[in-house]
Amino acid sequence: MTGSYGAELLRAALLGTDPQDSPVTHVEVLPATGAQWADWPAWLDPAIVAAYGELGLHRPWRHQIDAADHAFAGRHVIVATGTASGKSLAYQLPLLATLLGDHASTALYLAPTKALGVDQLRSLTTILATNPEFARLAPCTYDGDTDAQLRQWARANSRVLFTNPDMLHLGILSGHHRWRQFLRQLRYIVVDECHHYRGVFGAHTALVLQRLLRVARAAGADPVVVAASATTAEPARTLARLIGEPAVEVTEDTSPTGERTVALWEPGFLPEVTGENGAPVRRSAGAEAGRLLADFVIEGARTLCFVRSRRGAELTARTAAGLLAASAPELAGRIGAYRAGYLADDRRRLERAIADGELLGVATTNALELGVDISGLDAVVIAGYPGTVASFWQQAGRAGRRGAASAVVLVARDDPLDTYLVHHPEALLHKPVEATVFDPRNPYVLKPHLLCAAAELPLRPDEVERLGVAEAVDELTAEGLLRRRKAGWYLAAGVGDPHADIDIRGGIGGQILIVDTSTSQLLGTVDTVRALSTVHTGAVHIHQGAAYVVDDLDLDDGLALVHPEEPEWTTSPRETTEIEVVTTAHETGYGPLRLALVEVTVTSQVVGYLRKLHTGEILDSVELDLPAQTLPTRAVRYTLTPEALAGAGITDVSLPGALHAAEHAMIGLLPLVATCDRWDIGGLSTNLHADTGLPTVYVYDGYPGGAGFADRGYEAFADWVGATAEAVSGCGCDTGCPSCVQSPKCGNGNEPLDKAGAIAVLELIGRLLAGPDC
Ligand SMILES: [Zn+2]
Ligand SMILES: [Zn+2]
Repeated sequence: MTGSYGAELLRAALLGTDPQDSPVTHVEVLPATGAQWADWPAWLDPAIVAAYGELGLHRPWRHQIDAADHAFAGRHVIVATGTASGKSLAYQLPLLATLLGDHASTALYLAPTKALGVDQLRSLTTILATNPEFARLAPCTYDGDTDAQLRQWARANSRVLFTNPDMLHLGILSGHHRWRQFLRQLRYIVVDECHHYRGVFGAHTALVLQRLLRVARAAGADPVVVAASATTAEPARTLARLIGEPAVEVTEDTSPTGERTVALWEPGFLPEVTGENGAPVRRSAGAEAGRLLADFVIEGARTLCFVRSRRGAELTARTAAGLLAASAPELAGRIGAYRAGYLADDRRRLERAIADGELLGVATTNALELGVDISGLDAVVIAGYPGTVASFWQQAGRAGRRGAASAVVLVARDDPLDTYLVHHPEALLHKPVEATVFDPRNPYVLKPHLLCAAAELPLRPDEVERLGVAEAVDELTAEGLLRRRKAGWYLAAGVGDPHADIDIRGGIGGQILIVDTSTSQLLGTVDTVRALSTVHTGAVHIHQGAAYVVDDLDLDDGLALVHPEEPEWTTSPRETTEIEVVTTAHETGYGPLRLALVEVTVTSQVVGYLRKLHTGEILDSVELDLPAQTLPTRAVRYTLTPEALAGAGITDVSLPGALHAAEHAMIGLLPLVATCDRWDIGGLSTNLHADTGLPTVYVYDGYPGGAGFADRGYEAFADWVGATAEAVSGCGCDTGCPSCVQSPKCGNGNEPLDKAGAIAVLELIGRLLAGPDC
């Protein structure tokens, strides 16, 4: 590591730190790699090659051409390579070749965010502007902001539409007859930043895409899907699930990269500060990141710092500016903060300020992750693991100017997943096991989409059979929503337009609207299921990084009324949970350990909440009188026999705390193997469960019908348990803290917890999974 650019920056940041207490847990220099070039494909019109040449692009990289070749040959393809590896070319080449060669054909581009779509439209427009012949493609955005007149124009004239899954569902598929001309000529569907389609949003998007393919085929087209994604495990499998058809993948990144030094950083414990149940408290990731930002700027490094909340980004920028005011006052004014919700003009201004060097350091929320043209920085500091390996690389990829050396520092938050990653760099840097998880088979998501599909075109018996949706169709027919006729299933008479009932980003089932009473503005929605634990009266609700306090939760009207306020505390619900097993989907045994994937009904009741200061100290406990809620979902469950537990040294007294602590840590680590957030899942541990008669732990999906997380946990159980055991035993605390077994969402005030017992349980499971020979 000596001599690398990143090592020098780190040395500056660690100046004056006792090497014994260094917060750096790992430093790795990823060497520079050279480019692998390819020739322009023979099928590409020389005029298109000339257009790219005019913009300074003379030789493409091999992965770009490999992916473009697959698409041009008619194979659905996904290109999953790093940030700034030119993935756009993979779709632009076949699209331009086909659309310029055939005067009627069309293409549809989908992005998960508006900013990204705008960015990609700009890129295509620049290419088209080089040649007057190209103008006839008339690319155009088609989203919620497009006015009615422009929409009409786009439908009649545009041959490349830039839209999003929401608009595709509501604006195009719901009235697809008006789009017949566009759809029957549809040659390519571009699905950009595919890894964003996960969880319930992923399931909705998958069904929207499958409906698009169905409607386009019925109109006579046979479109090819070209997808782009950040690096993830099994991208072809992900795309195949998304579109319901086989796909191929291109994963070898052949773009050149500069030397990159990655450092992992674990803030130390604060002396003499204690948190919940006397646990030690670490320095916050945001404050630590602010220090690094200041140190790097002093060294002359242009640095971007990612912080998880808006308030956090502003605090981090303030910390850095404050430190600079004392040590290098001429630099204090060159630190900025950036947050979600800025308008396009503000974004461009910020891009310019960073590009010109007017700003040297910027703290931002992950709003900058997509669709903003900032790259080529010297250093990136990430305060808290951003949740997925894909996002980590997306953020890290902002550093590295045209092959120049750069540094990336990940600062751990007090969370078991962060703890695991800073002590197991291989899981982050070399062999991530994270797969993009979503479940389009979830009946709660599938059934409303089947109604939309039937409204679009009757569901033919052979289709129902091929898609394996006969059971859901029968249920909808029995409910009187579909009607069987000779040619297939139709929407029953009197059923309104089902499209309006689906909110692609809104989760499943009923929604509670969150309204800011100070401006009468709708902030967002939350599933009824989780409303009681997140927006109960008195709760502190974070929206796009800003804090609001809930004044009233009205379940009858579906409203949570809030006002903006940044109190000194956060709230965490106290909750009772019961689980009843409905059916067992899969079950396997390993001697005294039994592992199962089960359908369950979770009954939970929020009985009050704790108010905690930002230091972790508890202010007070408030009681609430709220109704119980039931959630039909999927869970992964394990049981152990009392004899095996006793053999591992776990006594009757330590058992409840051991299972509870193991459950917390496992919930914290599930995002390592599945693209979810610990807030998407829940758990229950008990030394005797009625359905098993044994000590039992459940980890369940927090969405009706499940979002695929429990299924993924069952599938990757050994990796998951192994990582959890290492995260807990690797934490430097004595008896448990937020970095290992304490959970910010515990419904039981983090009582009882037994860290040593949890390690014993998890290691026992590991031994049993490995089998008697090991
Ligand atoms: Zn700990
Ligand atoms: Zn708990």
